This record gives sequence, structure tokens and C-alpha cells, in this order.
Amino acid sequence: MAEFDPKVLAERPISPPAEFSRQARVKSLDEYRRLYQRAVDDPESYWAEQVRLLDWAVPPTRVLEWNPPFARWFYDGKLNVAHNCLDRHLADKGEKVALLWEGEDGSQRRFTYRELHEQVCRFANVLKSLGIGRGDPVALYMPLIPELPVAMLACARIGAVHSVVFGGFSAPALADRIADAGARLLVTADGGYRRGKLIALKEAADAALAHCPTVEKCVVVRRTGKPIPWQPDRDLWWHELVPRAAPHCPAEPMEAEQPLFILYTSGTTGKPKGVLHTSGGYLLQCTWSTRLVFDLREDDVYWCAADIGWVTGHSYVVYGPLSNAATVVLYEGAPDYPQRDRTWEIVERYKVTIYYGSATGIRSFMAWGDEWVSRHNLSSLRLLGTVGEPINPEAWKWYHRVVGKGRCPVVDTWWQTETGSILISPLPGATPAKPGSATLPLPGVVADVVTLEGKPTRPGETGYLIIRRPWPSMLRTIFGDDERYRRDYWGRIPGAYFTGDAAQRDDDGYFWVLGRVDDVIKVAGHRLSTMEIESALVSHPAVAESAVVARPDEIKGEAIVAFVTLRAGVSPDSDLRNRLSDHVAAMIGAIARPAEIRFAQGLPKTRSGKIMRRLLRELAQKGTVSGDTTTLEDLSVIERLAQQKGEEE
Ligand code: ATP
Ligand code: MG
Repeated sequence: MAEFDPKVLAERPISPPAEFSRQARVKSLDEYRRLYQRAVDDPESYWAEQVRLLDWAVPPTRVLEWNPPFARWFYDGKLNVAHNCLDRHLADKGEKVALLWEGEDGSQRRFTYRELHEQVCRFANVLKSLGIGRGDPVALYMPLIPELPVAMLACARIGAVHSVVFGGFSAPALADRIADAGARLLVTADGGYRRGKLIALKEAADAALAHCPTVEKCVVVRRTGKPIPWQPDRDLWWHELVPRAAPHCPAEPMEAEQPLFILYTSGTTGKPKGVLHTSGGYLLQCTWSTRLVFDLREDDVYWCAADIGWVTGHSYVVYGPLSNAATVVLYEGAPDYPQRDRTWEIVERYKVTIYYGSATGIRSFMAWGDEWVSRHNLSSLRLLGTVGEPINPEAWKWYHRVVGKGRCPVVDTWWQTETGSILISPLPGATPAKPGSATLPLPGVVADVVTLEGKPTRPGETGYLIIRRPWPSMLRTIFGDDERYRRDYWGRIPGAYFTGDAAQRDDDGYFWVLGRVDDVIKVAGHRLSTMEIESALVSHPAVAESAVVARPDEIKGEAIVAFVTLRAGVSPDSDLRNRLSDHVAAMIGAIARPAEIRFAQGLPKTRSGKIMRRLLRELAQKGTVSGDTTTLEDLSVIERLAQQKGEEE
């Protein structure tokens, strides 16, 4: 497990600016502590009070049914998620701007709540006309355009279950996810833009659908207008269907436990892991945490820069903010296109007040230099957020000083696809920040750092981050695999939810998340499973075996190093390296392209035949291996690898 630099624990707390605290929902650490204590003392009545944040067709009288590890929250209540994100705002906020969208090419579109509501109703009617109804899985493989949240909310409106697949995934990755969910419909686009280049989504969708017999129809949004292949018996244009569909569609009340979406995390084994979220508890905790953590106000212009293909985009671009009737900025493209100040240009143009971005993004901004930021008037900003991985104190301070001009609190928000919403984070008007720490759990969240036996660690001692009690927006299961859910999350540490992250607490009880315990690589904010990359490599005819590990990368967070054993008779050369790298990009997506491919005569394995990634990681990071090698089957394998690196340099 990662060792921690004790210097960091000595960071001095930075109190929220008095001006901010005065106007905040929670104004002091004492107030936070009282809230927290009340929620711990009686969690059920705490959550029962919060249900009023939503509009229920049938208000719940029950809070939680807990048959570990299976939870049902507010299970006798009924609501419609789309109604809560749209309809309920129409009476007094129908003309308020809901979405401010900017394409990478500079095009702009805006939707009021009334307009967004109408689009959602129309597309919900399209879905119905295609035979989609309650419980049917729908795959969404789209660029970051307004039609994506429209499609998500349309699914929610009729009780269909969306599965958003990040637009950077390639055809085989999409096909796996469609197959696992058993999706009946795919919604995609004729393309998207990324760094000025066209992303050929429809071609990839076609290649995937060739292997997806469950998909009957494919709805295509016109984004680029470029010619695309077309299958007349299957493909339908969004712009032909939607205007013809009726602009009204009832928001039928759904059971609180009606599935809302499946979202695949990168997964550490080959099979994609479909995290299942349901309606009432998920929406409630998203709505509630958006208010607390971003201290959302009526006049905020809120921008979460995450791709909707990841959970951050689900909870904090779509559901949390829209349920709170916020004005949400949505940007299609890359932050460095056409120049490295695109983010700050957008903040200035729309007078963004809250900016929520990834730790990797912040590190890139820092590397690009202050001048890109200083060019723009960022005086509209009042709050900054970070998510996705531990942020190093240097980057935190840079963000606070250069972007926030020391005026804006920074909320470092810890959470996961599985948790559905933010669980550990400062409250911006209340919690003194320590750069690099996600600080303290939100009210109702009982987090701890423990040993494998479940014993709390001492301050400064590394352990496993766990959550002791169920929470409303927790995942309900792994889609189609209850056993995996039980084993991976509730079967590791006695009586607790295992996050898979390593952490420490300090003397003030602050949480310092150190990173994951398992083998997932995060490249520039994109989560990739080592297993999936290995499988891609091994699918190449020249490759016998492969092991993929990460080495730290200043900009991207982590870079991919692939160890590859070739099949007999194949000789290694740099041309083969390029071909393998292209092959991985074609199988998974360009983000999975290895930074380094190293040919090996053999891979270090345990006697039971498991590859020892721990040793390879050490080798990739330091060039030598000093860790425990006693379980290694053949020590010479690792010696040869270490030697070979020396020769190559
Ligand atoms: P997989 O579950 O397939 O391994 P993943 O964990 O990378 O994928 P996410 O659920 O999006 O996918 O990421 C959650 C993880 O990101 C957390 O478990 C943690 O490791 C890291 N993380 C998120 N936010 C923070 C944060 N503020 N500080 C530290 N780590 C964070
Ligand atoms: Mg994870």
C-alpha cells in the first residue's frame, strides 16, 4: 500500500473566507459538527427529514430496509426523477436557463427549463414509440451535447434504464457494455469533436452493433453533418423523430427503488462492472449534496467539467444541479482547444460562479502556466471543486491562489461511481481546508479507516477506507451479479462497505485518501482497467501474455506501462511496439494507448500462476525491485526484466 508523506499532514488549515461563511447554508465547523452528530445519533430520522427536498407522488413513510448487503431506501414512496429535475421548476422557473451549451467549434445553444422539459417529453414519446418502456435498458453513446442529458431524462421519465458509455470508448468496449446490460436501443450521433478532430461515433457504433443482437433500433443525433454509413431498417434520425413527437408526456410515478441507470466502472477484472443505481435515494442524496457541497444559490452559474460518461457527469452535471433548478454550463470539447485558456474563456464568457473539475485537469492547468489563467477575468468565480483522485497539495494551492485568487473555497470531494454522490468533502462555508485532504464526511456518512480486520487505524497510519452504514445513493448491486457485489464491497471488511481506497486520518480526524488499493489506471481522468488493456494486447496475434501497470505521470496522473511476452517465433522491434499500441487504441480507445511497451521473455508469477503486478509496478516506477519476492516462481524473470531496462536506456 502507498506510503504517505508525513509532511502533508502538517498542512495548516485554511479557514473559509468570512464573507463566504456568512452567506453559506452551513456557516461554521461547529454547525457542521452539530448536523453531523444529529445524523449519527438518528440516521433514519435525519434522512426522513431530507426527503422533503424532493417532490414525491407518494411520500415515503419508510426510510430504510437493510438486509445486508442489500438496501432499499424510501421504498414505499413514489416519484419521477425527470419531474423532479424539470416539471416541478416550471411554475416559477420555467424561463430560467437550465443549460448553457458550448460546442468545441464555438457554437452555442441554450435551453430554459421549459425548453428542456419539452425536448425531454418529445424524446420520451419517441422512446415509447420505439417500444421502450419501464425497466428497458437503453445505451447512450454520445458526445457532450444537450441531447445526452435530454436522452437520460427521457429515459428517467418513462422508467427506462440508461447506460451511458463514454464516447471515447471503442467499438469492442461499447459492444461489451451493450451486451452486459442487454440494451434494446442505442442512441448515438454522427460524430463529435475533440481537439478539432472528428470522432467517428457512428462508425464505432455500427461496428459494435454488428455483435449486439439485443439492439433493435439506433437513433442518431446530427452533430457534425458529415456523411455516415446508414442502415435503413435500423437507423433513425433524432431530428426527424423528435419534432414530430408530441410535446407532452406524463411523468409517471415510479417506485423509489425503480432502477435509474447502470454505469460501468473500469473494473479490475475483464468483465465490465455495471454499477446499478435506483431512483429515490440516488436523486435525494445528489440533490442534498449539491446544495451542501456547492452551497448552490439561485443565481449561480454552475459548471462541472466532467464528461457525462462518468459518474461525476451523471450526479453533478445532470441530476443534482437540475433537481436544484441550477443553471448548468456544458462544454463539448477539450480544455486546450484551440488554446490552453479555453476553460477560463468559458468561465469569463458565461460568468461561471462555481467550477468543479478533475484533479488531473488542475495539474494540467498548472503545468501549462499561470498566464493562460491570468488572461481572463475570473471575478465571477466564488467556489472551486476537485474530484477524481487525490490532489497533491501543490496543485490544490495553485488552484486556490491562481484560479480562485485566494477568495474561493476549494472543495475536494471524495466519492465513487458506487457511492452515487459525494460522501467526504468540506462544506465550503464551514470546514477549514487542508490542501490534499477531502477533510470530513458529510452528515449521515459514517466513514472510517481500518485494518483488514476492521480495527480503526491510529492517526497517520495507513488503512482501508470504509463506510460503516448504508446511505441513500449507494449502489444497489452490480448489474446481474449480486454475488460480485456482496464479495467486492461487503465481503472484505467485517460489517462495512469497502471502498477499495487506501487512506489515513490525521489528528483532527481529517481523511487523506491515498489512492486505490487495486489495479486501475487513471490516465488524464479516464479510468481504465489493467485487465481490459491486457486483454486487448493478448488479442493481438503476436502476443502471448501481458501485464499492465501504472507509473506516475506528472500531467496525466498515471501513464500505462505494458509488459508483453511475445509468441514463439515473433521477434520484438519498435515497429511491433507501434502496431501493438495502435491495436490497444483500436480495441479500447486512444486513452488506453500505453506510454511504454516492454518486451519480456516471461512475467513474474506466483506459484499459483498469478502475475505479480506489484513487482512490475515497482520495476516500471523505479527500475529495480526491492519488494518481497519470496512467492515468486522464477526469480530470474524479474532479474532479466530489470537488466533489460538498463540496456534499453
Ligand atoms: P474502478 O472502480 O473500476 O476501479 P474507478 O474507481 O477509477 O474505477 P470512479 O468510481 O469514477 O472509478 O472513481 C472513484 C475513485 O476515484 C475513488 O475510489 C478514489 O480512488 C478516486 N477519487 C475520487 N475522488 C477523489 C478525491 N477527492 N480524492 C482522492 N481520491 C479520489
Ligand atoms: Mg472504483
